[in-house]
Amino acid sequence: MNIQAAGDAPSVKPPISFQHVSLHFGGNPVLEDVSLDINSGDFLAVLGPNGSGKTTLLKTALGLITPTKGKAMIFGVPAARFRRRYRIGYVPQKAGVFGDFPATVWEVVTTGRISRSGFLRPFSSQDRQIITDVLQRLGLEHLAARTVRSLSGGQRQRVAIARALVAEPEVLLLDEAAEGLDAPGEDAFYNLLAELNRDRGLTVVLVTHDIGAVSLRVRTVICLNRRVVFSGSPQECLENGKLAALYGMPVFVPSKWAGGREMQKPESERAY
Ligand code: ADP
Repeated sequence: MNIQAAGDAPSVKPPISFQHVSLHFGGNPVLEDVSLDINSGDFLAVLGPNGSGKTTLLKTALGLITPTKGKAMIFGVPAARFRRRYRIGYVPQKAGVFGDFPATVWEVVTTGRISRSGFLRPFSSQDRQIITDVLQRLGLEHLAARTVRSLSGGQRQRVAIARALVAEPEVLLLDEAAEGLDAPGEDAFYNLLAELNRDRGLTVVLVTHDIGAVSLRVRTVICLNRRVVFSGSPQECLENGKLAALYGMPVFVPSKWAGGREMQKPESERAY
């Protein structure tokens, strides 16, 4: 991850690049002069309070929203014009909520392969093998014939990630994807992402407001409050009080993660 100085020209095209991106909704600024590169192999968390522009940043990176000013690029191509969408996986907020539709795990996960294999082409044996491998890796193989609605929250979350991974993306963007998981489920979820980053070189970008959960896993933290107010290691973020400044109050980080630093407010006022 680099925060670029104005005018810097990157030598290799990063998977995602923001160049002086500003974005307004109905005249209200949501992103202001955001410049950053997300490079191959990064494992990065975007932190910020509600309404700070985190989801908008991801949607802009995907080319779903066009900046008012500046450029959002995917592999050096303007994001809105980027065609090979399967290279960037996206797990949106509440992706694990599949409703009551009686689709099986296999049926749901295979839909994620279509962007790679093509709409009109039947799956090849290679497509099926890749889907099977992903199900295995995510511990879902034995659940393939089960309906998604019959699974636990953690299992459904893994189905959402599996659906993104079967397209074999190089980058995975996840928006509040651990929300609703219990502590062991959350642990397993972050360990899986760390493993995919380490073993497969998958570039992982997590949007979250939970520094405690991610601080031991990610290598880089970006604190966003319309602008990038900090970028660096999670340790630096906690040590130099940037997180407290971001939230406008001391932030409690459980001692397991950070030695209980900045624990000053009563529980009801804490931002996690
Ligand atoms: P976060 O993910 O950090 O909670 P968002 O990116 O969802 O923040 O939203 C940032 C701001 O942009 C909020 O004030 C939100 O109300 C506003 N916003 C988001 N999407 C839209 C939209 N489609 N139209 C108008 N305002 C929006």
